[in-house]
Amino acid sequence: MSSIIKHISDVRNKIIEWKKQGLKIGLVPTMGALHIGHESLIKKARQTCDKVIVSVFVNPTQFGPNEDFDNYPRTLEVDVELCKKNGVDIVFAPSAKEMYPDGETLTGIVPPENFQNKLCGKSRPGHFNGVALVVTKLFNITQADIAFFGLKDAQQFFIIKKFVRDLNISVEIVGCPIIRDIDGLAMSSRNTYLSETDRQKALCLNKILKKVDKLYKIGKKNVYEVKNEALKLLETDVNIEYFEFVSTHDLAPKTELEPDILVAIAVKINNIRFIDNIILDSA
Ligand code: AMP
Repeated sequence: MSSIIKHISDVRNKIIEWKKQGLKIGLVPTMGALHIGHESLIKKARQTCDKVIVSVFVNPTQFGPNEDFDNYPRTLEVDVELCKKNGVDIVFAPSAKEMYPDGETLTGIVPPENFQNKLCGKSRPGHFNGVALVVTKLFNITQADIAFFGLKDAQQFFIIKKFVRDLNISVEIVGCPIIRDIDGLAMSSRNTYLSETDRQKALCLNKILKKVDKLYKIGKKNVYEVKNEALKLLETDVNIEYFEFVSTHDLAPKTELEPDILVAIAVKINNIRFIDNIILDSA
């Protein structure tokens, strides 16, 4: 039975109890508006941990001034139902005041520049500082043994892995595959913003990535050529923000296709941002 906890002190009391019993704690950080993408992380946590905490917090420090913080979908009641159904032990849903009692006077966690200055980081300055800060706070509050993140937000995943290693934070980071709707669109809380026409256009993200994978599998090597070929599938009125091929080790740009390259794309449709990616495998 999931209980909603709003205060950090109440989470801590539970954690003390659980740690005394030697239980393994899993954390799934989210911003809510939960869908089957989030649910897949929760299920994975449920399978591998004794206790599961899902945090639901629309984190103000990771939104830029012109982004959708105010309009971001907030559906806590429905989220709690989904958590209950999946046997989550605690839904941690703090207020901004609870998480940031000192307002904007904050100690920062700043991931390295070369992890930030590309992909989503390019158009969202400060975004990953906000992510790193809130995720570090969540690790400290929940003392989780394992935390589950989606590869949908690949840059976020690699940045979290990096600062956890750099700061010797004692948590295991598990990456979970992207869950897509039946039409291939990666599940996202922001999909609710899409009209049916725009949704059809958004499908080109997955088509472009599939094309890259196909070209890779038939032995094409040159990133420039593969990009041009795949971008022929871009729909009109879909504005490309980035389409990058980078190493999964340090996010350095690649010029030749090879295993373990992250191929990531972001577009804007009617000013709403959508992202998707694949990691090239060794097959
Ligand atoms: P968000 O609520 O958007 O911050 O996402 C919370 C977590 O769910 C992040 O680790 C995301 O990467 C993950 N997530 C979101 N959408 C998907 C998806 N379609 N498939 C897998 N994981 C996802």
